[in-house]
Amino acid sequence: MNSNLSKATAIAGAILASTLYVNAQTPPGGAPAATPPAAPAAPTPPLFSTTKVEGTDNVYIFRYQGHQSMFVVTKAGVIATDPIGLRRPQAVTTYIDEIKKVTSQPIKYVIYSHSHYDHIAGGKPFKDLGAKFVAHKNAKAQLQRFPSPDVIMPDELVDGKKTINLGGTSLELLYVGKNHSDNSLVMRLPKEKIIFAVDFIPIQTVLFRNMPDTTNPLEWQASLKRVAALEWDRMIPGHPYAGGRLGTKQDLADLMGYFDDLSAEVKKAAAEGKCTDTAMKEIKLPKYEKWGNYAQFLPMNVERMCYLANGN
Ligand SMILES: [Zn+2]
Repeated sequence: MNSNLSKATAIAGAILASTLYVNAQTPPGGAPAATPPAAPAAPTPPLFSTTKVEGTDNVYIFRYQGHQSMFVVTKAGVIATDPIGLRRPQAVTTYIDEIKKVTSQPIKYVIYSHSHYDHIAGGKPFKDLGAKFVAHKNAKAQLQRFPSPDVIMPDELVDGKKTINLGGTSLELLYVGKNHSDNSLVMRLPKEKIIFAVDFIPIQTVLFRNMPDTTNPLEWQASLKRVAALEWDRMIPGHPYAGGRLGTKQDLADLMGYFDDLSAEVKKAAAEGKCTDTAMKEIKLPKYEKWGNYAQFLPMNVERMCYLANGN
C-alpha cells in the first residue's frame, strides 16, 4: 500500500457511501438515475492512486475516487479489469495513462467483474486500443436488457470457468453463483494466490441496503462458501473498505458469520410475527456495530431477510 492509498482511504467510508448511493438508484443492471452527492469537503483524498500489490511482480490496484480495479502486467500484454468510468471519462483515460507509466505492453483484455455500471461504464478508450472485453454470460444478458451507449458489450463470455493465459501469467475467471448480481466473476491469480472480487465480499462492512439485484440471499451465502473453498490468501476488493487494506479469508469467514447471525435473528423475529417493520426496528447485531454502514444499512439487511423468511 502506498501512502496515497492510505490517505485516500481515511475517508473511504464517506466516498463509498456516496458511491453506493449511486448504485442504490440503479435498476438491476441498469444505469443510475441520480447524481451522487458531492464528495466530502475535507480532507480531500488524492483523486486516484496506483499501487503495486506487495510481494508481486506485476499485480496492481488502480483506485479512482471510491472504486478500485485490478490490472496485471505480463510479458505479452496487460490484463485490465473494470473501467470504473461512470459519468467520469477522465477516470478511464487516467487508468490507461497509469498503465502506460508501468509498461509499454499493449492492453489485451478488459474483464468485467459484474454488470453494474458504476464498475464497467466507460470502456471505449480500452476498446479503441484493441482490448478484448470479457464478462460472464449473464452480464451480457443484463447489458442487453438495459443497454447503455457508455458500456462496451463483451466480446467473449464466461460460463462456469475460463482461464486467460498471457505472457506467463494465468488468470482464472470463476463463476461462483448468484450473489450481489447474477453474473459476478471471481478473478483468481493462482501463482500469487490473489483474488479480485467486487461488491459481494465487503470487508468489515454490512451488506448494501436491502441487497438490490439479489434474487436470493441463500444463493449469496452459497457463493461465499465456494469462494472460501478456493485457494487464495489476499483479496482485492472493488471499493477501499476498512482503510483500503486487502481482504483475507478471515474477512470472508466474518462475512459468512454475519449472514448466519443476521439470518438467525430474523428467523426468530419472523417466528414471533415481527417481520418486517418491528424486526427492522428491533434487531441489533452488536458484534458488528463497528462495521461500515452498520447503523444505516442493518435495518434494510433485516428487511431483505424478512422477505426471505416470509417466502420471497
Ligand atoms: Zn455492484
